Amino acid sequence: MSTRSIIAAGNWKLNKTPAETRSTIIGLRNKLAGISGRAEVIVFPPFVSLETAVDAARETNVRIGAQNVYWEAGGAFTGEVSVGMLEAVGVTHVLLGHSERRTLFGETDESVARRLGAVLDGSLTPVVCVGEVLAERESGATADVLARQVREALKDVAPDHVGRIIVAYEPVWAIGTGKTATPEIANEAHTLIRNVVADMFGRSAADGMSILYGGSVKPENTASLMAESEVDGVLVGGASLDAGSFAEIVRAAG
Ligand code: PEP
Repeated sequence: MSTRSIIAAGNWKLNKTPAETRSTIIGLRNKLAGISGRAEVIVFPPFVSLETAVDAARETNVRIGAQNVYWEAGGAFTGEVSVGMLEAVGVTHVLLGHSERRTLFGETDESVARRLGAVLDGSLTPVVCVGEVLAERESGATADVLARQVREALKDVAPDHVGRIIVAYEPVWAIGTGKTATPEIANEAHTLIRNVVADMFGRSAADGMSILYGGSVKPENTASLMAESEVDGVLVGGASLDAGSFAEIVRAAG
């Protein structure tokens, strides 16, 4: 078994008020109480629910992450939130470059790299999301797209910071579509990503990095994805909104 961290992460997207966040996290902690696996659990609620989430998860193994962050520390940037603000409310993780941010909100490899730089200057753990769209997979461009996204996002990372980074492979055609990548497809993509990291930072840094799979993960398909040697965890959207189904995924993740 790999010594890499095993992670089950839930991206709640634009869902759950603070009150709903509290009740879901309380439900999750009750369900997780009976599970003795080694998976680290991280939940990513919307910004307005972060403080409530941190409070509801106190004295549990559930960590709380934000869905995005801006690279500036403060100033005239209406609508943005800084790394320091997230740290101040007890957040420990942050998603960067989720495909919805890239396709709906104009994020680029360059903006992901800038966010990553700011996060690594602080204490949060970044989860950098990469993944190809369907047309790229069908035209055989997946390897090039993943390599470009990883290289661009990590291009300014200092070698002693790379150990803090988690990568999530999320094929865009599998997100919210009910179409999960087969375990073989996921493993192949994770191998490719790990090889790019090895090329940039050395084999041991790459071998220590947790790479999560995301895209229509459900309780029924988690174990087969996790059985692959390069899959170190899952990033779950829809199926993380319900405490019962997310707890089943945590159990299946190990
Ligand atoms: C996601 O948003 O990161 C995701 C993987 O969504 P879903 O599980 O709903 O496909």
